[in-house]
Amino acid sequence: MFAETVTAIAADLKAGRYSSADITEHYLARIAEFDPGLNSYITVCADEARAAAARADALLARGEGGPLTGVPYANKDIFCTRGIRTSCASRMLDNFIAPYDATVVEKLTGAGMVMLGKTNMDEFAMGSSNETSWYGPVRNPWDLSRVPGGSSGGSAAAVAARLAPVATGTDTGGSIRQPAALCGITGLKPTYGRVSRWGMIAFASSLDQGGPMALTAADLALLMNAMAGHCARDSTSVERPAEDFTRLLAQPLTGLRIGLPTQYFAAGLDPAMREAVDAAVGVLRALGADTVSVDLPHAGYAIPAYYVVASAECSSNLSRYDGVRFGHRCDDPRDLTDLYTRSRAEGFGAEVKRRILVGTYALSAGYYDAYYGKAQQLRRLIQQDFTRAFAGVDVILGPTTPTTAFELGQKTDDPLTMYLSDVYTTAANLAGLPALSMPAGLIGGLPAGVQLIGNYFDETRLLNVAHQYQQETAWHLARPPHA
Ligand code: GLN
Repeated sequence: MFAETVTAIAADLKAGRYSSADITEHYLARIAEFDPGLNSYITVCADEARAAAARADALLARGEGGPLTGVPYANKDIFCTRGIRTSCASRMLDNFIAPYDATVVEKLTGAGMVMLGKTNMDEFAMGSSNETSWYGPVRNPWDLSRVPGGSSGGSAAAVAARLAPVATGTDTGGSIRQPAALCGITGLKPTYGRVSRWGMIAFASSLDQGGPMALTAADLALLMNAMAGHCARDSTSVERPAEDFTRLLAQPLTGLRIGLPTQYFAAGLDPAMREAVDAAVGVLRALGADTVSVDLPHAGYAIPAYYVVASAECSSNLSRYDGVRFGHRCDDPRDLTDLYTRSRAEGFGAEVKRRILVGTYALSAGYYDAYYGKAQQLRRLIQQDFTRAFAGVDVILGPTTPTTAFELGQKTDDPLTMYLSDVYTTAANLAGLPALSMPAGLIGGLPAGVQLIGNYFDETRLLNVAHQYQQETAWHLARPPHA
């Protein structure tokens, strides 16, 4: 029996129970069997994976491997990979092969990990359901008629369906946590600046942050050890001494102060979801944590502020796709204007165009103060809410999403309803705080997620709380029916 967590796979490799080649073949066979029904991968790189597994086995045989050597993983198709297509799930980049690896990919390759492939996602990471992908939607392995969440829906579905033991994701407004919650896995958005954005295709640069998605908090900690760290090629990367993200996993929760924001338990939260969150709070209390309610008075402004800031930044970031330098180019352009407009009209999907238009409008001379300026002021107020709350608590806890996974197509015609899926997640991005989602129950056979938000650079505490919770509960090990 092959182990399923990174921790257990690494132990098997170290003890020589299985080779990386065995484990890699196991995952490639599972992908071949189950992915046609899920569409969680855009690209599977079997040959490259086999070669990397052979290299890892040689290292392990010499006793030279590190803690992740030989462990397979998948990359969200937003991380540039040298020689392997990086599409960002857009027609615009359907033909794009990066000449370099993203820092995150470089680090994980350097740690000896074996990349199985590139996972599906919302186009340019814009979406909450993985339905905006040029390569078609991903299906949720818990119910194939439902969405896996987005934008890292391919990574979440692949990990939940055991088509990779761990995967990378990116989180601009919830894209690691929301799909993790909807697929019943554990995901961490680190503090802004913790994980290098170099080679991670930009959506909204002041919000984007890469992070790991796995079955357990302990696995996230192992991945963070390899992914995090200062990167001179990313000007917003933070310089801090290297840190062992596993170091607090075993710490008891006695005396931990958990803040429950009144605004996160108000109207709009599904009653069954509330019950699941309350039950998780009960488990943490039994482990010795204390709870107090906290006030985040500007929580209601997170969605509007986020969608203005994110759209504004994307309108600027995506201006580089002009049909000239790389990506899609229209046939037979008449002149330069025709080249720009037709390449962009053909290359981008509807949601990406909507964001570019909204962002350009919000940044335009006549509306800048009314929209972009206001959104930035709200961003600061939201951040100050958290600073005040963290004066009295160690972590903030609430639901990750207002409901469980919704039906495919249910929200595609109504972007505003779709945006509300991010009602609990965007604030952490606006403030730059670390946040984690962990499975905390099943509602009608669908996973429910609990979100933990931490203070700046306090990822080890989030991992500690989630790990202790996972020692007491088994939700994180529940297997979806379609896997
Ligand atoms: N769902 C949000 C959006 O559509 C968040 C996306 C993300 O985090 N990449 O913008």
